[in-house]
Amino acid sequence: MKELGHIIAIIFWTLVSQVGGIIWLINFGYFRWSKRSVARARQFCAFLLLYFLVTLLVVPPLARLGGRVPLPLTKSNNLRPHNYITPLLNRHYVKPRLRQQLIGIAQEINASNAAHKVSYLDANFPFIDGFPLLPHLSHNDGRKVDLSFYYTKDNKKGNLKPARSGYGKFVEPKPSEFNQTEDCLSRGYWQYDYTKYVTLGSRDDLKFDASSTRRLVNLIVKEPLTQKLLIEPHLKYLLQLTHNKVRFQGCHAVRHDDHIHYQIVR
Ligand SMILES: [Zn+2]
Repeated sequence: MKELGHIIAIIFWTLVSQVGGIIWLINFGYFRWSKRSVARARQFCAFLLLYFLVTLLVVPPLARLGGRVPLPLTKSNNLRPHNYITPLLNRHYVKPRLRQQLIGIAQEINASNAAHKVSYLDANFPFIDGFPLLPHLSHNDGRKVDLSFYYTKDNKKGNLKPARSGYGKFVEPKPSEFNQTEDCLSRGYWQYDYTKYVTLGSRDDLKFDASSTRRLVNLIVKEPLTQKLLIEPHLKYLLQLTHNKVRFQGCHAVRHDDHIHYQIVR
C-alpha cells in the first residue's frame, strides 16, 4: 500500500512539474536507504525544500544546456507570470528566441501604456522535446506559450485578470454572434469548455479590454518568428483580426476566449 502511494505521488509530480517525480524518488529513497527513523511529515518537508532548491538552482542551468530558458519570475517585470504557481511548477520554459521575442513585445506594450505588462500562463517544461505540459498536448517543445487578455476595472486599464489560474473565465459570445462552444459541444467534444472548472477562483468586476488585447495580438503576428496565434472565432471577429497567422484551434482542443495561444516557427 505504501508503495502504491509513492507511485501515485511520483506520477502526479511528474505530470504537473516534470522534475517533481524524480525529486520525490530521490528524497524518499534516501530516507529508506539511510534507515533513519524520521517522521513522515518531516520527510515531506524535506521533499518540498529539495524540490524548491532544485527548481531554483539546478533546473535553469540544466535546461539552458538543452536549449530552453525560464521566463522572468517577478511580477514587477514587463513580462511576468500571471501567478507564481506557473514558475514554481517549472511550467515557464521556452526557447531563447521566444523569450527574446516576448520581452521585446512586453517592452513595447509597457512603453505605450505604463499600466500594462504582458502576463504569461503555461509555457513548456524545461526538458525533453515531445514531453507534453498537460493539459496542453502541444506545449512540448519550447515554442509555445499562453498569454492573458487585458481587462479594465471601472474603466481603468491595468493587469487585473478575472481568473486566479488565468484560465476558465471566458469572454462569452453575444447571442447574435456565432457560438463556437455550443457548436463543439453539440458535436460531442465534451472537453471543449472544461477549463471553466479550473479558474481557482474568479471575479466578475472586470471588463474585457478589446482594444488593448487587439494591440497585443497585432504586435505578436507582425513578428516574422510567429508561426500562429490561436483565439476563439467570435473574438477574432470582435477584434477585427485579419492576419492569416490568427487561427481557430479546432474542437479537439479547449476554448480560447480566456487566453491567447502563441507559438513560433521551428
Ligand atoms: Zn496554449
